[in-house]
Amino acid sequence: MSVSVPLKAALRGRCGVCSQGKLFDRFLKLKSRCDHCGQDFTVADTADGPAFFVGFFIMIILAPFYFILPVAQIPILAKVFGYGAVLAATIGLAYWLLPLAKAALFNLQIYHRAEQARFEDHAPN
Ligand SMILES: [Zn+2]
Repeated sequence: MSVSVPLKAALRGRCGVCSQGKLFDRFLKLKSRCDHCGQDFTVADTADGPAFFVGFFIMIILAPFYFILPVAQIPILAKVFGYGAVLAATIGLAYWLLPLAKAALFNLQIYHRAEQARFEDHAPN
C-alpha cells in the first residue's frame, strides 16, 4: 500500500481505488461512481479543502507581484500589462490546480476509506 497510488491517479484525473475510471463528470463535478471498479464517489466529500490549499498557494506565489507593481518605477503601461499578466496567472493557476487538488484530496479519502468523525452511540457510565 503506497500513498503514491492515489496521488498518481489524481494527476491523471482517475479513480484513487483502481486508477482506471475517470473521476470527473465535468469541471470540478465528480461522477457518482467509478465506471471501471464501481467505487461509490458519494462516500467522501472534499468540501472546500482544495480551494483553501490552492488559494493559499497562489496567494503565496503571486501576492508579492500585486504589492510590488504599484510602487515599481516603471511606465504606467508596463504596470497595466503587469497587472494583466498577474491576473491571468492567478486565474490560470486556479483553473489548472483546483481539479488536481480536488482529485488528490478525494483519492486519498477513498483510498484510505476515510470517513467523517462520529460520536459513539454508547456514553460511558
Ligand atoms: Zn475505480
